[in-house]
Amino acid sequence: MASLKELLGAIRYPNKEKIDLITKAYHFAEKAHAGQKRYSGEPYFTHVAETAMILAELGMGRRTISAGLLHDVIEDAKISPEELTKHFGKEIVFLVEGVTKLGTIRYKGEERHVESLRKFFVAMSHDIRVIIIKLADRLHNMRTLEYIPEEKQRRIAMETMEIYIPLAYRLGIRKLKREMEDLAFKYIDPQRFEELKKAIKESAPEKEKKLEKFRKFLLKMVEKENMSEVESDMRVKSIYSVHRKIIQKHRDIDKIYDMHALRMQVKNAADCYKMLGIIHGIWRPLPGRIKDYIAFPKPNGYQSLHTTVFTGDGDILEVQIRTHDMHRNAEYGFAAHISYKEWDTGIQDPHYTWFKQFFSGRAKKHPAPVAVDKERMKHIPQWITELVDVQSYINIPTEFMENLRSDFFEHRMFIFDPKGEVIDLPIGSSIIDYAYAMDAKSGNKLFSARVHDKIASLNTILKNGDIVNIITQPNAKPTKKWLEYCRTANAKKHIRDALTKQEKKANIKRQNS
Ligand code: MN
Repeated sequence: MASLKELLGAIRYPNKEKIDLITKAYHFAEKAHAGQKRYSGEPYFTHVAETAMILAELGMGRRTISAGLLHDVIEDAKISPEELTKHFGKEIVFLVEGVTKLGTIRYKGEERHVESLRKFFVAMSHDIRVIIIKLADRLHNMRTLEYIPEEKQRRIAMETMEIYIPLAYRLGIRKLKREMEDLAFKYIDPQRFEELKKAIKESAPEKEKKLEKFRKFLLKMVEKENMSEVESDMRVKSIYSVHRKIIQKHRDIDKIYDMHALRMQVKNAADCYKMLGIIHGIWRPLPGRIKDYIAFPKPNGYQSLHTTVFTGDGDILEVQIRTHDMHRNAEYGFAAHISYKEWDTGIQDPHYTWFKQFFSGRAKKHPAPVAVDKERMKHIPQWITELVDVQSYINIPTEFMENLRSDFFEHRMFIFDPKGEVIDLPIGSSIIDYAYAMDAKSGNKLFSARVHDKIASLNTILKNGDIVNIITQPNAKPTKKWLEYCRTANAKKHIRDALTKQEKKANIKRQNS
């Protein structure tokens, strides 16, 4: 278990304020959970201390780390939010309550609309820090999954794979993603996991030796070039990534060239290209394997140069080149930005103001346009820019901006079926829209519906959080009127198709009679 000393040792830029708050939260949580045990037999407090440790390692600030320590005291130690507020203030309680709320979202293994569930998860969190605490909480639960009753293990592993890992990936927090992936994979497909683990382990010593030889030679060459701040290390692919690559590329395990990769970190982007030049000057690159993610970052913001070269001794090696900053972003993603910047110090970084507003839901009413330079915009993951149209914060005429801005919370809502499966729909959608969003058949055979257990007419406009039970009948059909009662293009298309078919049938009947 992380001792207080270890935890304090792990925080970035420690100062008295940070140390005092975290120390207070540590003792408070320890006392609150006293006597409680985990499935593993360890004190319950171990779990929250480890969660806080993960947050500290991610470089999170004092409130986030404290909330990590306190994240289970309301739910599991029966401390009231009022009492917690007295000791720690509103902001930390807001974070703790956010984490508690997210805990109620469950993936049950039958959802067809996993993407909606992910969006719902994000919308429920209201603050990026809540998601990051929840990810740290989940990582520790995954580390100790072996102690959980067997019948629960698979569901939790699946939930991690379907909800938590994609979020960690999209937030660019590879550090969490990689570890969680292998932990989850182990429970989802134990046999395959063991097979691959063994194969990787067997080939590792030889590959590592070759990589080391290559690295030494390269560093010698680099020395002549007068480049400063060069660092290198080895990156080993996670077992799950190897598994996915084998499936996607229909490839044998020994044809996966990037299982081990050499990673070079340099001072700036110019040095990245210079390093690439040095490498290609010595070793011949494999055609089609050079990737410039610096000029074309991945949607989640990842930047790096990748190349694969023939090492000369019949082997092939992948080299990744990036700056120290790019590396930090690749490992910590959004966590890297929020941690050492504004949230703990109160400094407003315009780059993240929109982000804060987005998660706090305050972006709803005409946010003052913030001057954001386009250069930095490149680092915002695409899936987030899709939710909040970031472009609209840059000089665009107001009217145009009004039309363009698609504030996720303003325009989308979440509708549940009685089993808790969630679908997100544009605001103003009706029962008909909902039925077609489930699938075309539910729409075409829609007969009646219940909203929160009360019979409702099909043109009822739904509200965020409604629980809708669709009732279908084999001989039900859409009518022309339905077109007026729906707003999604998906529903309209299916209704028109069905109407055309009905007409054709009627014509044939007429002709035949
Ligand atoms: Mn927990």
